[in-house]
Amino acid sequence: MKLNTNELPFPPPPAAVEAIRAAAGERLNRYPDPTGLAFRQAAADRLGLEPDWILPGNGSDEILTLLIRTFCRSADSGGDGGGDLIVSPHPTYTLYRTLAEIQNCPFEAVPLNGDWSWNWERVEAVKQRARLFFVPVPNSPSGTVWPAETLERLIPDDGLLILDGAYADFEDGRLGLDLLNGPHGDRIVLTRTLSKSYGLAGLRMGFAAARPEVIAAMAKVKDSYNCDTLALAGGAAALRDADWLDETVRTVLAERERLTDGLTALGFDVQPSGGNFVFCTHPDGQHSARFDMLKERRILVRYFAFKAWPDGTPDGLRITVGTPAETDALLTALESFAV
Ligand code: PMP
Repeated sequence: MKLNTNELPFPPPPAAVEAIRAAAGERLNRYPDPTGLAFRQAAADRLGLEPDWILPGNGSDEILTLLIRTFCRSADSGGDGGGDLIVSPHPTYTLYRTLAEIQNCPFEAVPLNGDWSWNWERVEAVKQRARLFFVPVPNSPSGTVWPAETLERLIPDDGLLILDGAYADFEDGRLGLDLLNGPHGDRIVLTRTLSKSYGLAGLRMGFAAARPEVIAAMAKVKDSYNCDTLALAGGAAALRDADWLDETVRTVLAERERLTDGLTALGFDVQPSGGNFVFCTHPDGQHSARFDMLKERRILVRYFAFKAWPDGTPDGLRITVGTPAETDALLTALESFAV
């Protein structure tokens, strides 16, 4: 059972599969549309924007890479030689740091408080210097959803706040849009993926939503054909199926509640989550032993240890919301755990 990478446990929208089949039958001898216009129109319609506010990517991970390649000078690229600073909270999605390192850009983590709230002194200390500030909402692995007033305070003085909405659909698909449409919108980028809420992790499709000048700058840097014909067709069809998404999110949220209740009944502290996963800790601290026990029973969850997080939870388990049968099997296995 795969409850470790926050995929959907169900197949994607049938309309998306049909669109992929049709595109495979008709258009594979031709290059894809390099501008991805039909996809951009579908994404724009979903968010109430215009197509020139959207950039499709080969998964949202590609969008994160493109942001760095477009807006950040590496440490060895001349000028003052220091490179442009990339920032994210800690603990969070670890790819931001990895991508910064790959591009040879300086990186700083802002440690969150132990309750996953922001340490404003630390934020203020980096905000003037950050070129890109990556913040996932909901956060991973905690599932924390910070309110818009909090996010607004994170906008760098002379840089971009990237609101990574990989899990936004499970909380509110419009997350971050008010900021993008607001007075500081030229310093906001939203990212979205079809890997989670749409069940299309294998297709590799995501996108950025930002002001047209930001999108145009990124479009110059991307490969001409960064998204293939099948991904563009399937992604557009998925985004147009709002009823399927509503129904799917409702199902996941109901199961998340059952999982949370079950874990709580077993003595876990479960962090309130806006995503399709929960982060939990047990007062006995035996998280890695539980991870090993589950793995032995072929149930995969994520074990996190936060070594450089001085005033927080040292470790815990992140569990993806699966099917009801998977929740039952997981809870039964955890119940049998003896210290
Ligand atoms: N952001 C966050 C916070 C994630 O957890 C993930 C999935 N691991 C991604 C972005 C990237 O997802 P994808 O490349 O599949 O769109």
